[in-house]
Amino acid sequence: MLRTAAKVDKNQAEIVRKLRQIGAYVKVVSQLKGFVDIVVAYRRTWFFMEIKVDTKAQLTPKEKEFWQEVGDRAPIYRVNSWEEALEVITRR
Ligand SMILES: [Mg+2]
Repeated sequence: MLRTAAKVDKNQAEIVRKLRQIGAYVKVVSQLKGFVDIVVAYRRTWFFMEIKVDTKAQLTPKEKEFWQEVGDRAPIYRVNSWEEALEVITRR
């Protein structure tokens, strides 16, 4: 089977839709392997988010490499649900 697109996490559409409903700007970049799934702008801040379907899902090798390369320079948020995505952009 020819696969041209990266697998999209099942909860991604819901998370994107609900973030947009509360006024966040969301750019979906999940097609870029080894990067985050969505980039979110909200209340003057950017949030880079890796979406996973649950707490047990592992980062892919390319994602792990990206997280290691970025290190502690800037945050990357892993979110396993809409509730966690909301928590990330509203805490502060
Ligand atoms: Mg993902």
